[in-house]
Amino acid sequence: MPDVDFDIFSSTNFQLRTLATMHPIQCKCGAIRGQLEGTGTHNRALCYCTDCRAFARFLGKAPDMLDKQGGTEIFQVAQSRLRFLQGEDRLAAIRLSDKGMVRWYASCCGTPIGNTMANPKISFIGLIHTCLDQAQMNEHFGTSVAVLNVNTALGNPKPKQRGLLGVVARFMWILVTSRISGGYRRSPLFTASGLPRVVPKILPAEELTRLKSAE
Ligand SMILES: [Zn+2]
Ligand SMILES: [Zn+2]
Repeated sequence: MPDVDFDIFSSTNFQLRTLATMHPIQCKCGAIRGQLEGTGTHNRALCYCTDCRAFARFLGKAPDMLDKQGGTEIFQVAQSRLRFLQGEDRLAAIRLSDKGMVRWYASCCGTPIGNTMANPKISFIGLIHTCLDQAQMNEHFGTSVAVLNVNTALGNPKPKQRGLLGVVARFMWILVTSRISGGYRRSPLFTASGLPRVVPKILPAEELTRLKSAE
């Protein structure tokens, strides 16, 4: 699909945000390096769900990954925008259950990378801020951050939910355009036969319970 400006709803809340600048991606130790390329719709959101928190704890990265109320900042884009320049062989993945998302991380240093579905045709990735360049996020991604799953935020008062409708609209747009354009076939995270490029480990149920009860 050509790089068309899809910002057709710009006068409404459904603005389809685009990203024109190359943004670096790397794990903390620097073994994995890559970048976000091209333009397209994105979502920037803070997620307070217990699964994102369990993932942070699984990696022992809660202090790096979570805000004071246990939220994870996520940047959602089409997987075809993602390109690895080195260290792809260090990618590892976990699923919190056999139906859970595939949660990618760096095996070298435990840096969380991002979340995808196991189905390669649902071709988004929610990149976790820990692999992005904090100093450039506002400039590259804009300062508008949706706030989701607030009922499971830690402490009180809970943060206010914000921007859900726009997130859903843009999410659907990312999926539909990736599917129609065939962009999902260019994901660096899945093989040509549609399998995750590393076999995700499935977390034992009791381990998930333990991680979630740490709250
Ligand atoms: Zn690393
Ligand atoms: Zn979440």
